[in-house]
Amino acid sequence: MNNTRKIFIALFLIVVLPALFYSVYEISALNESEEMISQIYQRQLDAILFSVNQYVLDVASGWATQLENETTHSKFVQIIKANPSIISIITADTTLSALSVFPSQQFANHKSISSQKEMIDRLIRYQAASYRKLEPVIESDSTTIIFFVTSAPVKVVGIVINNEFFINSIISKKLIDIAQNDFVVAVDRQSNGFTLFTTSPEQNKTFSQQRQLWIFPDHIIKIRLKGTTIQDAAQERFNRNVLLIIGMDIVLILGAWFVFRTISREMELIAMKSDFVSNVSHELRTPLSLIRMFAETLEMGRVKTEKKKKEYYTTIVHETDRLTRLINNILNFSRMESNTRRYNFRPVLLNKLISSVLTIYSYQLEKLSFTLQTELSDHLPEISVDEEAIAEALHNLIDNAIKYSGENKYLRIATSVIQNSIIVEVEDHGIGISIEHHSKIFEKFYRVSHGLVHTAKGSGLGLAIVQHIVHSHNGTISIISEPHHGSKFIITLPLIQSK
Ligand code: ADP
Repeated sequence: MNNTRKIFIALFLIVVLPALFYSVYEISALNESEEMISQIYQRQLDAILFSVNQYVLDVASGWATQLENETTHSKFVQIIKANPSIISIITADTTLSALSVFPSQQFANHKSISSQKEMIDRLIRYQAASYRKLEPVIESDSTTIIFFVTSAPVKVVGIVINNEFFINSIISKKLIDIAQNDFVVAVDRQSNGFTLFTTSPEQNKTFSQQRQLWIFPDHIIKIRLKGTTIQDAAQERFNRNVLLIIGMDIVLILGAWFVFRTISREMELIAMKSDFVSNVSHELRTPLSLIRMFAETLEMGRVKTEKKKKEYYTTIVHETDRLTRLINNILNFSRMESNTRRYNFRPVLLNKLISSVLTIYSYQLEKLSFTLQTELSDHLPEISVDEEAIAEALHNLIDNAIKYSGENKYLRIATSVIQNSIIVEVEDHGIGISIEHHSKIFEKFYRVSHGLVHTAKGSGLGLAIVQHIVHSHNGTISIISEPHHGSKFIITLPLIQSK
């Protein structure tokens, strides 16, 4: 298993997996706690509804208390006057024979009492045990009678109530008080579903809780949170928390991915650096052994003809140049890395510079049977550049064009002016580079490691240095290349250098 995969698995096990486990656990726990919160809400609402019922019962009990000891007409008048929701008051003896209704014109409405014998007997029994119970009887759609039995004297009393009036004048106050800005509370008549009172006229919303009104059995009181229902509020909270957890997970996974990428990049770099060391050692050794070999041969006087001698000297000079360039590349790269490389800008005729660089290669190009094509524009103005650096960039590009030429030995160098820039193109018909490597070849130490490239030695620094030089001149470098169809490197240098 390679190291990158090990790091990936380690990060996955240490960071991602626990985070995912935690999230799944949290989300299920969240679900439970949201349900609990929802239940607590429901219970609270229940308690509120209970308190309304209790309040209604208290009001009715208050009336019953007033009638407990005094069932005179003047008392009736007083109570009915003070409580407009009371239509009339019925009294009867415990056998229900002496029935009277006050005011008497209401008598016709209250025939139902005779059919309540069983209930009245129950109330009498309660009363005998010193317990006054109130029993509601639905009289009609709009009226309810609350029956109870008084103790001294023992009498059946019924308070006839106008439901709607009671709800709108007595219950409504309590409901408004409870609802405030948080809840909507309404009272419906159950038989026909009409809403008799509501604290807020929001339509078509489902209520969370509803209870029957004890004293008005045909009526229900219902409640919900204002604006949203409890389920909505709980769901909203749940969604928000889930989103938060997912957001945290994404950040964590991104962080782990970032760490993974950084580590694997570092490892790649380490591997590339070790390749670099072995490549550079090889690059150094080859010209050195060539120089030594030719020098020794010359020293021993074994070379007879002047022509041969000249050839050996040229090779020695050429190899020394190569060595110098390689060492310069490494030195310049280290300056680049430590940000200490300084450029010395001076007006330069680029064509002249290119020609002098090409002169250095003439022997090599000829020896390797290269076709050299130069297309240097006549209209090239002077440009302010660091001559040495630009020459170095050209050397690196030409070196590559030669190194990676494959079978097709061709080199083209062209210059032109486009708008306010000078364009320099270095083109070969060599092995080319596939698109996925185009951006990477400019990274330090990066070398395309397949096919023919294995045979060409290099440090992997050349293009990184070229790019650094070009960028330091505010220029750009781009590449057009395809495997087996050669490569073209295009440098654009602005004529006016912004400092
Ligand atoms: P190197 O010392 O390996 O040549 P460079 O930074 O100069 O390092 O180039 C990086 C890689 O880009 C090379 O290893 C090679 O694979 C690829 N490359 C550069 N120039 C060319 C070219 N002209 N043709 C084909 N491949 C090239």
